[in-house]
Amino acid sequence: HAKREGRGRAEIYTDALALEAQDRAELERDLLMGLQRDEFLLEFQPQVDALTGRAVAAEALVRWAHPERDLVLPPAFVPLAEESGAIVALGDWVMGRVCETAARWAEAGMDHRIAINVSARELGQPDFFLRLRHAMAAQGAPPAMLELEITESLAMDMEPRVLDQLAALRADGVAVAIDDFGTGYSNLARLKELPVDRVKIDHSLVRDIVTSAQARTICSAVVGLIQGLGLQVVVEGVESQAQMDMLRVLGCTLFQGYHLARPMNEDAYLARYAAPDADAARDAG
Ligand code: C2E
Ligand code: MG
Ligand code: MG
Ligand code: MG
Repeated sequence: HAKREGRGRAEIYTDALALEAQDRAELERDLLMGLQRDEFLLEFQPQVDALTGRAVAAEALVRWAHPERDLVLPPAFVPLAEESGAIVALGDWVMGRVCETAARWAEAGMDHRIAINVSARELGQPDFFLRLRHAMAAQGAPPAMLELEITESLAMDMEPRVLDQLAALRADGVAVAIDDFGTGYSNLARLKELPVDRVKIDHSLVRDIVTSAQARTICSAVVGLIQGLGLQVVVEGVESQAQMDMLRVLGCTLFQGYHLARPMNEDAYLARYAAPDADAARDAG
């Protein structure tokens, strides 16, 4: 009996693995079709200035309204899209939608930047910057309304050609942020030379700051380092008031996280964060 049970468990385990692989293969196959069928959507999560209580920027986060599943979140399909190369088409879709949204917000008097996440495979395309500029021009998106988020590990790895194009884009008014800071290995001398405006501290660095003095020390040092380089700090993944209070003592003012707001659709974002004067501009227009 014991033997049969053991084998049974092994079979179930194998089935689960096979299912997972099949699941991944299925999602990978469905990605391009999903793009054609317009199954993707963007949600927006505010970055809030604690001094004014207002949102200053929104991060655009892609979601997949797969016809046979619940809303699929990026960790389940962005890595697959990177492997298969579908990320380039997906990234183009994101760029187009963000530029279109940014143009409309600017028209309505909203000055919140919209941040786009850029993955390694996208940035590795020789015509990445050209396509972004085309999207901006086609939609009439002001550069001052846009921001690019590049992960720490990717940022540390950029070739001179990419750095030059990023610097040129920034000179034209697009902001650049380092994403997930604290999860990779940074060359601090390099950080100083990168064409960036702000650094987003990863949630893993703030998770334990309320309960652990050590976590607090590390977080404090990282904040001091970034600010010492003259860069703005945005803290990601803030989930409680206690964390936020602690971070304010450390000198942080820009926050993004569930404690402030979850990612939401555009209508909900505008209803909650459009300034009164933006409402007036929209009504007048
Ligand atoms: P990210 O750029 O670091 O985005 C922040 C992630 O943290 C989002 O997950 C967001 O929903 C989540 N988050 C926000 N506040 C909290 C919080 O208080 N606690 C916790 N635990 N999480 C919080 P999401 O939407 O699942 O996206 C995951 C990652 O997928 C993003 O991480 C980004 O790297 C990538 N991604 C999302 N959208 C795009 C896109 O359009 N293009 C590309 N290339 N990557 C994207
Ligand atoms: Mg991001
Ligand atoms: Mg991040
Ligand atoms: Mg992340």
